[in-house]
Amino acid sequence: MGIYLDYLATTPVDLRVLEAMLPYFHAEFGNPASRSHAFGWRARAAVEEAREQTANLIGAHPEEIVFTSGATEAINLALRGLVARRPEGRSRLLVARGEHRAVLDTAEDLRSRGLQVDLAEIDADGQVIVEGFEGRLGESTLLSCVQWANNEVGTVQPVGALAEACRAHGSRFFCDATQAVGKLPVDLGETGIDLACLSAHKIYGPKGVGALYIRKGEPRLRLAPQITGGGHERGLRAGTSNVPGIVGLGRACEIAAQEMEAEGTRLLGLRERLEGGLKARLEGVQRNGEPGQSLPGCLNLTFEGVAAEDLMMELGDIAVSSGSACTSARPEPSHVLGAMGLSASRAQSSIRFGLGRFTTREEIDQTIERVSRAVGKLRSPLGTAPRAPEKGS
Ligand SMILES: *Cc1c(COP(=O)(O)O)cnc(C)c1O
Repeated sequence: MGIYLDYLATTPVDLRVLEAMLPYFHAEFGNPASRSHAFGWRARAAVEEAREQTANLIGAHPEEIVFTSGATEAINLALRGLVARRPEGRSRLLVARGEHRAVLDTAEDLRSRGLQVDLAEIDADGQVIVEGFEGRLGESTLLSCVQWANNEVGTVQPVGALAEACRAHGSRFFCDATQAVGKLPVDLGETGIDLACLSAHKIYGPKGVGALYIRKGEPRLRLAPQITGGGHERGLRAGTSNVPGIVGLGRACEIAAQEMEAEGTRLLGLRERLEGGLKARLEGVQRNGEPGQSLPGCLNLTFEGVAAEDLMMELGDIAVSSGSACTSARPEPSHVLGAMGLSASRAQSSIRFGLGRFTTREEIDQTIERVSRAVGKLRSPLGTAPRAPEKGS
């Protein structure tokens, strides 16, 4: 089966999540929009329970949650929906350079439709520079977008400070919290974040379901729906609800809330073991990202003098990635590492290890062994693996 270390790209559905979902494919197949019979009422009750479970994990009210087909759709609804209802005089977006493609490409599309897009720089660790960010906020900034945690290097952003700066300038603040939710404490009620997204398949739920958080309260946030055709999800997202998927998202959130703390500690231990083990065996290994403020299961390393593509080939059935899953088919180096100031060649020698719920210590030890050998082989002029150390040495 190989060793899966790409948990930031996607995760397997937890069997407890699958178990919660199964009844909603057949026995409980009702449409939650059917108000005239018990099949519909039961489906609706299941969706509303999932809304509560999702809200609980992120410090939100259930009424602040809109279910979508995933984080990408939630991002599109937030950005396009707000732009369509923008007040007079607010026509600029402020987007951090290290954002996910779903945010960058949506902002780029809005730019081609007449909005101005400003970019906020990130530093060598991948963190948004707060003063620089604040300096780019202006009278006409409609919306600022900074993720909670980065999907390539794991760096956590100072979202509280950024949200405060936005509030002071009258800008709305959208936070792509897809990688942080379920892994780090996220309390949206506490922070001044107006809009945020999450995705089930990054937290052991099914693919194709996620949510947009829309803060209640004053000044009122108005979004234009991007999918019309019925009053589902308070008129913001039409279409029959994906009931099994939503139930799965809710259960995934519930499990994450219970296990996050212990699991975070466990993953941090494994990540440090992996980093320490590789650095002990190999020269020329550098960590990318902010070591203190980062996702416990994310380790991005540069292996000097080794092309990531070659290393991944050599690793065979160890699943890791270079760049993000969405862009790794393109040969370009990661835009995140580039924005952090890494040279193209260093970026192209970087690998992301994503550890998760089913990662074991044995897998980490095997990975240390196999990566060390593969890097040694690729670096040696004859392309041969260094001799295995003698037993007992
Ligand atoms: C995976 C991911 C997305 C996209 O989520 P989907 O639900 O797959 O559309 C957006 N942002 C970040 C940070 C991600 O990691």
